[in-house]
Amino acid sequence: MQRIGPTTRLCGVILHPAGHTRSPAMHNAAFRALGIDAVYLAFDVLPEALGPALAGARALGVRQLAVSLPHKLAVMQHLDEVDATARRIGAVNTVTVRDGRLMGDNTDWTGAVRALERETALAGREAVVLGAGGAARAVVYGLLERGARVRVLNRTPERAAALARELGADAGAGLEALGERDFDVLVNTTSVGLRSQDSPVPADRIEAGTVVLDAVYDPPRTRLLQDAEARGARTVGGKWMLVHQAAEQLRLWTGCEAPVEEMARAFDLAG
Ligand code: NAP
Repeated sequence: MQRIGPTTRLCGVILHPAGHTRSPAMHNAAFRALGIDAVYLAFDVLPEALGPALAGARALGVRQLAVSLPHKLAVMQHLDEVDATARRIGAVNTVTVRDGRLMGDNTDWTGAVRALERETALAGREAVVLGAGGAARAVVYGLLERGARVRVLNRTPERAAALARELGADAGAGLEALGERDFDVLVNTTSVGLRSQDSPVPADRIEAGTVVLDAVYDPPRTRLLQDAEARGARTVGGKWMLVHQAAEQLRLWTGCEAPVEEMARAFDLAG
């Protein structure tokens, strides 16, 4: 247990509904491991209370807030500055308070590329991203930033096409287009597989040697990851995307390299 005293700093995550979040477990584990005098809490913030919540954070000297659904877009209008990358992705998932100013960043893209980089370098790779929602935007941005070639496939092909056009990926298409072209990296950012045994794609479209990341982290081994392993692919669970985005948040606030393995352990224990 951390000792809480007059110098203890406050950080947290804002989301609604609060439900179950493992962010406090991950960040508190990192604070303990690094000897940082801070605590991290979860705040259930209604959409209409977002402005007052941020004003309160500023007034109370909160150091950092992670921003989860449904606030990732709306939060931007309450900040003093939004980083250019977060603006391009169209979402802020981190607010760091520096000299009383609220600064918005996006670490979801960093989380996704670092999760993939556990298994492969990304420059020059052929990547396919399934989905065209908020998570897809961060993943597509990250893959392009690392020099991969990216194709976006989505149940609603028009959304894939629009996202691809906006961020500079290859022309988007429907999910059935998977397999029309060889790929080295596959990332699922659809919600298919979340608390179910469904997969967004047929198993036989995945080749041995492919690296597959599933952004879905509940269950830890989704049907897609099980299928991919059975086909001889290398897999990365959505947990690693979350852990690495949290690690980048810690770095933004403290400048410290985060204890990633400790945070992953805390994530597992909080499940
Ligand atoms: P979102 O903006 O609502 O997008 C949902 C996506 O899933 C859309 O592309 C949607 O396609 C697709 N989809 C939904 N139901 C489908 C179905 N039955 N068949 C095929 N496609 C379907 O959600 P999000 O915020 O991007 O989150 C997506 C998933 O990623 C969630 O499971 C979330 O938990 C996970 N996630 C993980 C992390 C992490 O760090 N691990 C971070 C963010 C999100 P349409 O466009 O056709 O509706």
